[in-house]
Parts: sequence; structure tokens; C-alpha cells
Amino acid sequence: MFDAFAFWLLEELANAGSSLFDLSKRVSFVYLISASIVAFVLLWWRYGNTGLNRLRTYFSWRIWWHSSSRTDYVLWLINRLLLSVIIPKTLTQTVWISWLFFFWQEQGLSNLALGWPDMLVVAIFTLCYFLADDFSRFFVHWCMHKSPFLWAFHQVHHSATVLTPFTVFRTHPVEGLLFFFRSLLVQSVVISVFLVFFPYQVSLVQVFGVLVTTFLFNALGANLRHSGVVLSYGEKIEKWLISPAQHQIHHSNALHHYDRNFGVMLAVWDRIFGSWFAGSDDQTICFGTGQTIDHLGPWGQYTQPFTSFFSLVSHRVISLFKKRKKNHRPTANQS
Ligand SMILES: [Zn+2]
Ligand SMILES: [Zn+2]
Repeated sequence: MFDAFAFWLLEELANAGSSLFDLSKRVSFVYLISASIVAFVLLWWRYGNTGLNRLRTYFSWRIWWHSSSRTDYVLWLINRLLLSVIIPKTLTQTVWISWLFFFWQEQGLSNLALGWPDMLVVAIFTLCYFLADDFSRFFVHWCMHKSPFLWAFHQVHHSATVLTPFTVFRTHPVEGLLFFFRSLLVQSVVISVFLVFFPYQVSLVQVFGVLVTTFLFNALGANLRHSGVVLSYGEKIEKWLISPAQHQIHHSNALHHYDRNFGVMLAVWDRIFGSWFAGSDDQTICFGTGQTIDHLGPWGQYTQPFTSFFSLVSHRVISLFKKRKKNHRPTANQS
């Protein structure tokens, strides 16, 4: 029993370590290095030699070994272990895709093979998948800020007082579960619909477009958004794409930055929902929530959200109970 547990633990930790060499993972060394090259080129091009000073925080040992960063690493490892146990192995993408595929057939959507050229199918699939994936990430994130019950858990991500690329993993497992189901839903819906319209072409589609998009996003500096390197994309591009500076505003504890820039890749969702705030190379930001959770270690990051959540639930139940009691109170004439 103990041997099996020790073996599982070692295997999971080895898998976590191998993420650093895996090109499908955002924290692969290749992307950590490519992010610094992208920042180096853009800052040098804009500000010459003085621009390179702006890159210093990315290589600062004090940032990478800050107590907030150490909490990020611990949460990353523990969440991997927890989620691998919590998420049922039977709940795979294949099961959901098959179920949805038969559901569409029951609704009369069958034998719709359009027979379009492969490259056109790849392009349409990549676009649909990208839009559905990016919007659903934006929307779940927006809900996590707007609902106090969800914010109780999302505050963990915002409690980081310094940002490193590993802050992306600083989440509560409840948020991890929510994003797992989001991803499962989006992938299953998009793939099952494409199976109905383009049977025999979907496996080709899956490999190509989505991988290329993810690779480009990561290679072009996705890691900079969780870093102290302030980099905007310039007036025109800022309106369309979420820059590192825009996500850093999202992590700001200043009141005028509150609830801004929920997007991942496209800035258009924020513009539609009225939460967009342009980033600037010269912004100065203090990261964190400004609350006690900012100073808690890993244990507090796991337990404090449950305390906030249950205190919110109990407040709601008590106020509902009081309201009902008030409505049912007999009037003077009745008594
Ligand atoms: Zn957030
Ligand atoms: Zn973030």
C-alpha cells in the first residue's frame, strides 16, 4: 500500500518536472526563454539600451525566490496531485464527444458530410475552437469575479504579490475543477459538431490548427503576462489582443483597476463587456488583493477560501430566514 503510494507520488512529481521540457506546457524552458527574447527585442527596439533595464525583474532571483513565488510552486505541485485524484479517469473527452455525437444524431443532425477541402476544414475548425475556447475562458473568469461565492476561490490567484510565469498555477483546486469542466465542455461540443459536418476529417484537424495556435501563443511571450516585465502592444494592437501589461492591470490592487481585463488572448470580449483597460509600458502596479490572504502560505491559500465561502453561505441563509420570518409575521389585526 505504502509502496504504491510512494510510486504514484514520485511518478506525479516526475511528470511535473517533465513539464519544463514539454512543448505542450506553457512553462517549458523553451517558452520561458522565448518570452525573454520577445521582451528583449521589443523593449530594445522601443527604448534602446535603457529598455533592457525593464527586463531585469524577469531574471531577478529575489522575485523567483520571493515567499509569494514559493507559494506558487507549492500550489502548482499540490494541485497536480489533488486534481489527479479528484478528477474521475472515466470522465474523458472521448466519452463526452461520443455522447454528444449521438445526441446530435437524435436531434436529426446526421449524415451532413459537406465534403469541403481538408485545409478549409482545418482553418474553420481552428477559428471556431479558438473563439469558443477564448470566450469561455473569459466568461468563466468574469463569473469568478462577479460572483462573491466564486471570488472566494479565485482570490487565491490574485493574492500573489509578485508575478512569475508559475503564478498561472496559483489557483485553488475548486477553480482548477471549474476550468477542467470548461475545457471538457468546449472541446466536446466543438469536436462533436465537426464530426457531424466533417466526418473522417476531424482527426487531421485536431492535430494541426490547435497545436499551432497554442505553440504561437506560448512562443510569443504568454509567460510575460505573469511577470514584472511591463510590455504593452501599442495603441492599435492593445484593442485586439491582451498584452502582458493588460493582464498585470488585472492583478493590480488599485481600485480603478478593479475587475478589468478578464481576457486571455482576445481583448474584444472585455471591450464588449465594458471591462477593458489599455495597458501602458509606463504603468506602475502593486500586485495582490490588499487583503490578509496575500500574506498566507500554502495552507492558508487552501483553507481561507472555504472559510470565506461558508461565511458567505451562512450570511445568505440567515438573511433569507430573517426575510421569510418578517414576511410571515402576523399583523396587529390578525393577532
Ligand atoms: Zn482574475
Ligand atoms: Zn493571472
